[in-house]
Amino acid sequence: MSNGVNNVMQKIEVDNFSSKDKANLNFWLSMVEKYDYDKILSICLSAGTTPDIAERIANEIDVNLNEEDKEIVSMSEVRKLIFALLYKYDWEAAKRFKTDEIYIRTNSEKFEVFRREKITKSLVKETGITENQANAISMDVEKFIRHLNLTYISSALIREITNVRLLEYGLEEARKKYTRIGLPIYDIEQMISKGASTDIKRENANLQHTPETINWIISGETLEQYAMMKLFPQHLLDPHISGDYHVHILSNAATRPNCIQHVPSLFFKYGLKVDGTGTHTSIAGPAKHLSVAIQHCAKIMLASQTQMAGGQSIDCFNVWLAPFLKGLSDESVRRAAQEFIYELNQSYVARGGQVVFSNILFEFGIPNWLKNVPAIGPSGKEAGVYGDYEEESIRFLREYTKIKIKGDHVGKQHMWPNDVYKVRKGDFEKYPEEMKLVHEFMAKYGTPYIANGLPEWQTENFNYMGCRTRLDAAYAGVWGSQRTGNDIYITLNLPRIAYEAREDDNKFFEILNKRLSKMAEILLIKHKISEDLLHKQHLLKFLSQKMGDEEYYNFMNTTKTFGYTGLTEAVKFHTGNHLHENKDAQEFGVKIIKRIREYAGECTKVHCLRFSVIASPAETCAARLAKIDIAKFGKNVINAGTKEAPYYTNSHMVRMDANFPLAEKIKIEEAYHPLTNGGHILHIWLGEQSPSADSLLEMSKKICQKDIGFFAYTKDFSVCTPCSNFEYGLKPKCENCGSEDLSRYSRITGYYQKVEGWNPSKKQELKDRFRYGVGNCGCD
Ligand SMILES: [Zn+2]
Repeated sequence: MSNGVNNVMQKIEVDNFSSKDKANLNFWLSMVEKYDYDKILSICLSAGTTPDIAERIANEIDVNLNEEDKEIVSMSEVRKLIFALLYKYDWEAAKRFKTDEIYIRTNSEKFEVFRREKITKSLVKETGITENQANAISMDVEKFIRHLNLTYISSALIREITNVRLLEYGLEEARKKYTRIGLPIYDIEQMISKGASTDIKRENANLQHTPETINWIISGETLEQYAMMKLFPQHLLDPHISGDYHVHILSNAATRPNCIQHVPSLFFKYGLKVDGTGTHTSIAGPAKHLSVAIQHCAKIMLASQTQMAGGQSIDCFNVWLAPFLKGLSDESVRRAAQEFIYELNQSYVARGGQVVFSNILFEFGIPNWLKNVPAIGPSGKEAGVYGDYEEESIRFLREYTKIKIKGDHVGKQHMWPNDVYKVRKGDFEKYPEEMKLVHEFMAKYGTPYIANGLPEWQTENFNYMGCRTRLDAAYAGVWGSQRTGNDIYITLNLPRIAYEAREDDNKFFEILNKRLSKMAEILLIKHKISEDLLHKQHLLKFLSQKMGDEEYYNFMNTTKTFGYTGLTEAVKFHTGNHLHENKDAQEFGVKIIKRIREYAGECTKVHCLRFSVIASPAETCAARLAKIDIAKFGKNVINAGTKEAPYYTNSHMVRMDANFPLAEKIKIEEAYHPLTNGGHILHIWLGEQSPSADSLLEMSKKICQKDIGFFAYTKDFSVCTPCSNFEYGLKPKCENCGSEDLSRYSRITGYYQKVEGWNPSKKQELKDRFRYGVGNCGCD
């Protein structure tokens, strides 16, 4: 122990001021005193720490100051360092280290002396209140803080205290602007230890528990709070919170639009800049070979996913690629397809630890609208027209489908991309071999979809993503469904309207109209946000990059979409019957959706923007809305699930457990497909059954004669972790090795996911699903 410390020890013994006076004296002394090593020891010891720690602190400060500094630095400045080090080595002593100074612990772990003027300034700057108001508030805050007699206070806590004062002053709007957003410590710990797998707020099950996912969820939570506080006005968000409707992907509203259909031929022509500018990454020139062209397709989706909340899709995939197939063997084509599939399925390193929600659409041959369009081939050169490549286009479809049928290394299905086969008039007759192959794929895994172009109401170009989002040529011609997608959609809680209307038709439509007008306001605000992101903040550089003279993303053609859920429950409450139980119930259901479509049409006219109607996937909100309604309306609520896991039936679908022929289900649901220009799907739940490809093909032919625009057969299956055994059905244990460590898969709303990741209400729905047999579907 140095002499200095001894001296200080003696000094402390004679020092018997009251603690308050001592603090004052110390404070004033420190203002005039120059740097002094012994003084530091003395201060530390008087705070009650051990001589060892005191010496350590004094040394640490001494080593860090050079001789010149020691000449000019005052003890008042050193006191900050002393406090910081006491805080580090002896928390109790730091608490006792009291002076008139209040130290603020800022975000970067630095300590600053409290200054009231800082609060005043930030209040004026951030909230726009007057300086007088800000002054009065900051004085109140200072008084309160001094009264607490704290050793230090965090800047976050000062903000919270200031917010309480803002509320007391009646400045609620200012408080909303001034508030800090983030997550409670408890929530973050839960997320790290357990993941957010059963959180009702999750928008989709396509997330694994990884460090990246935790980042994604935490940032999403913060941005969602921001959206709620700042992006949309209260009168539009209150109905979201109270459950009149559900605004989807609020966590992305501030930074991204929803989804897109890509046109890879533009990248084949101009080359690929995945950052949109080429300044941060390598620039690839126009692809020369199929294997490069197809890699570019994967990269387009990966790059674009960083700028969008939802799905990435490529329409007419095999058509764009066809010019690259000339002279290649089937084996080379299969290898390229395989590279593409693995690239997308193994992109778990992507944003948020979330694999890209990817989707590709196949044409049987070349659709009319592309037949005379100049084809872009190797090296970005024009190579005839797409109509010249019918053979290559169908060959790609064939070889790709074969690879998908094979499954992965252990025979498990490739989950991505979602494959959509577009059926046009005459395709069943013209391409029997390929149709059979596609149905073998369906019979094996159930994953592909059919987009049915046969109904009258389908346009020359129509497309769907695996999440059912739909675009067609009706709004802006055949190219109007390309390089664009959905900007945002909102799901309307239909049963809620029924409870409020109390069986009064007029009242029902009166409430419906009011809700729709609020939803339209939100859709328009979001349009403005996305437009600013693109052209003011320049945040979406991949989307806004130029392709020739044009911007790649056709933002003005994006859809602003009204969705809905629980039609059958709404109708049941209103008329006494479910959609499938009674003709009047079905008629009332159609009337409701017609009105929504009509309203969307009116919005399109008035605002010159593309408003549409979707049969919402509602993966999460079907449960959320039912829960809120049960809390509000109690036992009057028509609940499709159980007390523990309630839900409303998806969009206009018949009840999941309705046990009646598929033909009857189709008859009811086909009425809604022509009305939902923003998307729809018919689910045929097969469960464990393994129908032959032939019987599925026969069934598809029949379904394509109906007004069904989009459909999929869903098979459930289980894959054993230890032995990779693949079995149909959701099995409790492996039939091969007896292990209970199985992954069970089914289609959640649009896409396949591991059942373990589903929310409780979706799991309940899975139990309730009525599985159809094939061959006795009753279709004629
Ligand atoms: Zn096994």
